[in-house]
Amino acid sequence: MSFVLSPRTVEEAVGLLAELPDALPMSGGASLVAMKNARLIEASHFVSLAGIASLHGITATDTGLRIGGMTRHAQLAACDLLTGDLSMLRQAAGQIANRVVRNMGTIGGAVGNADPAADYLAVLACGDAHVELTGTEGSRLVAMTDYVTDWYETLREPGEIVTAIHLPAARPVPSVYRKLCRVPGDYATASVACASDGDGVRVAVGACGHGPIRSREAEAALRGNLRDPVAIAAFGAALADLADPVDDVRGTSEFRLRLIPRMVAAAISDLEGKR
Ligand SMILES: Cc1cc2nc3c(=O)[nH]c(=O)nc-3n(C[C@H](O)[C@H](O)[C@H](O)COP(=O)(O)OP(=O)(O)OC[C@H]3O[C@@H](n4cnc5c(N)ncnc54)[C@H](O)[C@@H]3O)c2cc1C
Repeated sequence: MSFVLSPRTVEEAVGLLAELPDALPMSGGASLVAMKNARLIEASHFVSLAGIASLHGITATDTGLRIGGMTRHAQLAACDLLTGDLSMLRQAAGQIANRVVRNMGTIGGAVGNADPAADYLAVLACGDAHVELTGTEGSRLVAMTDYVTDWYETLREPGEIVTAIHLPAARPVPSVYRKLCRVPGDYATASVACASDGDGVRVAVGACGHGPIRSREAEAALRGNLRDPVAIAAFGAALADLADPVDDVRGTSEFRLRLIPRMVAAAISDLEGKR
């Protein structure tokens, strides 16, 4: 049996998590409740973050956007602030699971859980996002490109929670999120987030390793060559070289390695069509 605690502030929530090492944070419960029912997790207490007002909503800051951890996928899928190079986040949110899960699940829970196939990870790495982590010692920002360290492992310390995602202000250039999945609503077999960046692109690949794959070196080599199929193929091959996919029910490792250059080329072609 697990008890649900309902703090009203972040300080109270992280205090409870520090006091009760066996407790887990709970956002929408979209995955947590399913994991509990399947007996995949045990916890004496769930610390619900739902009643903490400062974790809800999307606000403009001096440098861009702050998305509170309790922001639901459905809110992001309908968010007018996500334009230009941030529209890929809106596209990704709208492709998560189904309407029920999108109304329950949150960006803080998804990033906290860090499922390698989660749609947000590639988009946030491509978008130069930072994860705001808060514990009893205060808050810190971690670059999304550094955040995932291994399979389901992140720089988040025990007792810390994801309180927000920070993104630079939207730039008026196109972006695209491509997700290949077995049926609509499934987790990705592979995904690609791609945003224009002057005469180049920013690209991150998802679901093909423990975390999102991005190479600034490969992006620099592609700069100025977006109409050159050979350069694009070399770029896709460089990202595939960095991938470490597994064989699972959604596809084999070999299939995913073949997908990466094709999906990257298709995403770049989508962007060129939108310029
Ligand atoms: C049927 C189904 C299909 C899904 N399909 C997809 C999909 O296609 N694409 C996709 O990206 N996702 C998918 N998901 C995941 C879903 O989108 C949720 O976003 C995600 O699991 C997090 O849910 P939640 O926010 O309710 O977090 P919870 O379920 O409350 O928590 C999930 C985990 O994260 C931890 N946690 C929660 N909040 C925080 C926090 N603020 N900080 C740190 N840790 C935290 C919890 O302790 C728990 O371990 C699917 C889930 C289900 C149930």
